[in-house]
Amino acid sequence: MRREKSDQLYREAEKHIPGGVNSPVRAFKSVNDEPFYVKRAKGAYLYDVDGNRYIDYVSSWGAIILGHAYDGLLEEIKKAIEEGTSFGACHQAEIELAKMIKEAYPSIELVRLTSSGTEATMSALRLARGYTGKNGVVKFRGCYHGHGDSLLVKAGSGLATFGIPDSGGVPEDLARHTFIAEFNHIESLERIFEKEKDIACVIMEPIMGNMGVILPEDNFLEDVRKLCSDSGILLIFDEVITGFRVGYRGAQGLYRINPDITCLGKILGGGFPIGAFGGKREIMGQLAPLGNVYQAGTLSGNPVAVKSGIYVLDYLKKNPQIYNEMDVNMERLIKGFEETARKYGIPLKINKVTGMFTGFFTDQDVVDYASAMTSSKALYERFFKSMIEEGIFFAPSPYEAAFLNMSHKEEEISRTLDAFDRAMKKIK
Ligand SMILES: *Cc1c(COP(=O)(O)O)cnc(C)c1O
Repeated sequence: MRREKSDQLYREAEKHIPGGVNSPVRAFKSVNDEPFYVKRAKGAYLYDVDGNRYIDYVSSWGAIILGHAYDGLLEEIKKAIEEGTSFGACHQAEIELAKMIKEAYPSIELVRLTSSGTEATMSALRLARGYTGKNGVVKFRGCYHGHGDSLLVKAGSGLATFGIPDSGGVPEDLARHTFIAEFNHIESLERIFEKEKDIACVIMEPIMGNMGVILPEDNFLEDVRKLCSDSGILLIFDEVITGFRVGYRGAQGLYRINPDITCLGKILGGGFPIGAFGGKREIMGQLAPLGNVYQAGTLSGNPVAVKSGIYVLDYLKKNPQIYNEMDVNMERLIKGFEETARKYGIPLKINKVTGMFTGFFTDQDVVDYASAMTSSKALYERFFKSMIEEGIFFAPSPYEAAFLNMSHKEEEISRTLDAFDRAMKKIK
């Protein structure tokens, strides 16, 4: 596959943008490759500047669920844009989106919009600290919650990819308020709660997506919920990935657990920058202008992003079969992957939930950070490179999820499986 124009653009980008990219994993460094440059996207496909076409299993890191450039959504956005792209003042669609979020997530009584998932989690932490008057935050090793200072300790996603356990630039004075528990090991949380008394909240991805997909084991979320309630510590579910993806009601709907605060993003904007955090009235009431916890945003509640989000949520609500269809396609894909890997004697464990999965190149069950790390980076790199040569784009890192969207159909699945067979044959 020729990527001459992409290579040229990357050389030029490196002169002007740190590492040539506006978000680290896009540089393809962990798979020792270089990025392609996207010209346009449609349905299940990305098209690059050299005329190559890729079946896209990144789906804008989970933000895309209807498929790229979905016609109905485009029409809606065009209408929205003609009415103005940013008001810096109140508008009716904000209310509509807030109501839709509340209806999908009954644990939310009041909700505020931001422009990214990071802003949502950062603000949720500040709110939890303001509400409880405490400083400590517990997170789980390998969970990623955006790049807020307190949350960049032992984080997943790009940090796991690049082997950065704790980010530079985070003051030690702040980092010492972040405590690390182990996902699926409730005793690790118990130990922290016994020892530390100055804890405001626990923040977690209820289903991990940023160390690859890792599901909570039986009763783990219930136990976390109970431990927090018993200790007067707030529980924050970061559903930026899982919200509207693992089901319309997210992981909390799937497992029937109500967090105190929920963070949303990605799908919520239908491809536009957005985030949201919400929870009980009593807690959210601490936010300015009602209370003294300050949080704001010039583009928060941006009318185009909000109308895009409303369109996508409305579509999902009216077409719940999308989730079943994604499941059917994903099952076929996973079953094929497993059979092929077995055929060539390549270790592969696949974790999955509706709309997302991760294949770990290991023979261990992946249930926590340590087992995820047993996945072979070398095999992933060869998998990634073989697939991209075949025009199939998986995340350029072994510790990410693959995301399906509504546009992945039988044809794309079959082509992916054929390519996977050729890739594994080479690797064997
Ligand atoms: C992507 C992500 C974020 C950060 O959202 P941005 O919009 O990238 O700032 C936070 N939490 C989780 C679980 C995410 O996957």
